[in-house]
Amino acid sequence: PPLYKQRYQFIKDLVGKYKPKKVADLGCADCTLLWMLKFCSCIEVLAGLDICASIMKEKMHRLSPLPGDYLQPTERSLTVTLHHGSVAHKDPCMLGFDLVTCIELIEHLEQSELKKFPEVVFGFMSPSMVVISTPNSEFNPLLPGVTLFRHSDHKFEWTRAQFQSWALETARHYGYSVEFTGVGHPPKGMENVGFCTQIGVFVRKYPQASEFAQSEKPTEAAYKTVFRAVY
Ligand code: SAM
Repeated sequence: PPLYKQRYQFIKDLVGKYKPKKVADLGCADCTLLWMLKFCSCIEVLAGLDICASIMKEKMHRLSPLPGDYLQPTERSLTVTLHHGSVAHKDPCMLGFDLVTCIELIEHLEQSELKKFPEVVFGFMSPSMVVISTPNSEFNPLLPGVTLFRHSDHKFEWTRAQFQSWALETARHYGYSVEFTGVGHPPKGMENVGFCTQIGVFVRKYPQASEFAQSEKPTEAAYKTVFRAVY
């Protein structure tokens, strides 16, 4: 399967394993991952965030309940919400999530946004699990036609050592552990370059003293809600 599907499947498998109830996808683009996750029966709250409202709106009708969802109501409730805003800003609507996914997002961030990102995601949102994927630049020589970056909008592409040192430092600072994996196997004989997409899975080390922590958080909204569906 194409690489983007392997990345989505990786998240689906993780959801199947850990059964998070509340999942937020940052940089959700056309909401394909959110749409796939709405079929996971453990999930009760799904949220998407993107800085580009038009791409989010393109196919968001897929997130609306179908007639069958009303005719055959299930036990679980599901709320899907889309927000327009930046991962460089904090908004209380992103509090209380179990899993936050950032698939092919960080390489699109400007230096100033990337600097704020850990404090927003790990410090403020502080979910039990965070998944971050980004291109592994060591794989690039194997990709036909790639000279500098895989995509013209990428601000950087990291080697495994670069990503891992950023991730380990971030994890250490915010009290998370992190494990590295990836999707997109290199061809036989080239195993030394690693996965095409590198993935860090971060797990919060200590349970949150939630009431205390929440009361300390700012309550001013920074995002604009552009879609909401309640099943
Ligand atoms: N996660 C999706 C996927 O894997 O198919 C889309 C990845 S796309 C390459 C990167 C997305 O991040 C774009 O939709 C872009 O608009 C969004 N993005 C870029 N900077 C952002 C920011 N500061 N805050 C939120 N989203 C941002």
